[in-house]
This record gives sequence, C-alpha cells and structure tokens, in this order.
Amino acid sequence: MILIDGKTTAKKVFDKIKTETENLEKKPAIAVIIVGNDPASKIYVNRKHKKAKEVGINSLVIEFDENISQEELESKINELNNDDSINAILVQLPLPKHLNTYRIIEKILPIKDVDGFHPENAGKINIGIEAYAAPCTPLGVMTLLDEYKINPEGKHAVIIGRSNIVSKPLASMLLSKNATVTICHSKTQNLKEIASTADILVVATGKANIVTSDYVKQGAVVIDVGISRDKDGKIHGDVDFDNVAEKTSYITPVPGGVGAMTIAMLMQNTLRLYKIQRGQK
Ligand code: NAD
Repeated sequence: MILIDGKTTAKKVFDKIKTETENLEKKPAIAVIIVGNDPASKIYVNRKHKKAKEVGINSLVIEFDENISQEELESKINELNNDDSINAILVQLPLPKHLNTYRIIEKILPIKDVDGFHPENAGKINIGIEAYAAPCTPLGVMTLLDEYKINPEGKHAVIIGRSNIVSKPLASMLLSKNATVTICHSKTQNLKEIASTADILVVATGKANIVTSDYVKQGAVVIDVGISRDKDGKIHGDVDFDNVAEKTSYITPVPGGVGAMTIAMLMQNTLRLYKIQRGQK
C-alpha cells in the first residue's frame, strides 16, 4: 500500500506558483466574498488569504453581514467583474438560505470564476473541453492521480456522492481520461457490491467511516474526499482507513490527502486566470 501524500504534492504546487509570481511585476489577485459568521467558512477563508500571501498572490477578503440582500451581493460581484486589478472571484459557500446561490455564481464572469462553478465552466468540463478554471477539489484529485502515475484509462472508477462541486465534475474529468465511471449516492441500491468492483474508489459523502473494508476490492485505489468532525473536534474521512488501507494499492489519508490539495488548486487557478486574462495562456 502506498500512501498518497497530499501535503507534499500541494507543497510542490505552491513552490511552483511562488517561483512564477516572484518574477511578476503585477501580482495576480483573488477576491474572496464571505457572508455571515459561519466559523468553518471563516477558517477556510483565512487559510486561503494566508496561503495566497505566502505564494505571492494578492488577496482581498470582502465580508458581508448575513442579512445582505441578493441585489447587494450581485452588485458587488459586478463591481469585481469590472475591476481589472482582480483576476479571480470566489464566493465562499454555503450562503445563507435567503440568497440564491446559483444566480450569484452565474453573475461571476466565467473568466474570473476561480472555483469553476459557473455554468459555462461546468458545461465545458462536462463536454470535455478546457474550461477557464475547473473546480478545485476534483482538480486536486486528478492532480494526485497524475502525480502518483495512476492512469484512469480503462479503469472502473466508482464515485460515492453526486455533488455539483466535487463528484459530478470529477466524473466528467475521469471520463475525459477514459475511465468507466459509476456515480453512486444515498439512494443507490447495492452500494457495497458496486463499490467493491471499483479499481478507483472515490468517496465524497461527509459520513465518517462509512466505507469499510468489504466495500473495497483488493488492490483498489481509494481516494477519500470526506471531511467530518466528531463531537471532540477530531477530523474523520469517509473511509475506515485503519481497516481499509491494507487492501488498497494507493490510499489518501484524512487529513493530509485531498483536503491539502484544494487550496493549492485554488492558487493554481488564480494564476491561470491571471495568465488567460493577459493573453499568456
Ligand atoms: P454533499 O455534502 O453536497 O453531498 C453528499 C453526497 O453524498 C450526496 O450526493 C449524497 O447522495 C451522498 N451520500 C450521503 N450519504 C450517503 C450514504 N450513506 N451512502 C451513499 N451516498 C451518500 O457533497 P460534497 O459537497 O461533495 O461534500 C462531500 C464531503 O466532501 C464532505 O465531507 C465535505 O466536507 C467534503 N469536501 C472536502 C473538500 C476537500 O477539500 N477535501 C472539498 C469539498 C467537500
């Protein structure tokens, strides 16, 4: 069994970005919008802000009260769309219930949509053509597979979870690499039987340790996207790592696997959008 080391792979990405930005007179810039006081969202936004600074990317955090109206938020996005000093716009999700998330994401210019959630970018990924930016977590998974020379071609990839931010774009990306892809979810029957036919098993449910060793084929590659905290604050993945690991050929830990890659991909996307906007890509 080989442990897929997200931290080391992410560091390589950060180092590469830093080297590139050091030579730039005008730095790339990302604007991150956060609405309300959700503690987890605040932690994520602070991490992104800190990391951006470390790798030579300017970061602007825009905080709004949780009662902000749809119109006010959309008008801020318009303002950022028209601001040439901003290359990338991210709206931290989830948004409060009274806001229409889809309409807000749709307002971001696709060429500044650093999360790759805009329907134009999502559609391009689905069609299998290059988007301005691809969603960071699935892009992180693909980067890890590439780093460890795991070629999805001809493999049966099973994804547990069907979210728009992780699982669906990941399914398209794996399909583009010629995997045979099955998506499972909470209503799937015979989940264990399907999962145990996977050559590459990706789990993104947020349910701690639901994938036990009987879900896993001997020698499979197991990618754990899930992150959940128990009542003591300890972080868990969706995979029962201690019992599953010995059956796998490759496995990601939680923490230190996929999660470590997400911010790296965000920074990579910011630099990419900067280059596209300057006609360098
Ligand atoms: P989500 O939370 O929107 O949906 C969960 C999905 O899992 C649904 O499609 C549901 O059908 C499926 N599901 C739930 N329980 C199931 C069960 N018992 N059996 C089979 N399927 C089940 O999905 P998401 O936003 O993709 O997030 C999934 C997990 O990934 C969460 O733990 C989240 O915190 C984590 N996540 C991690 C990163 C990262 O950077 N590592 C990024 C995004 C999300």
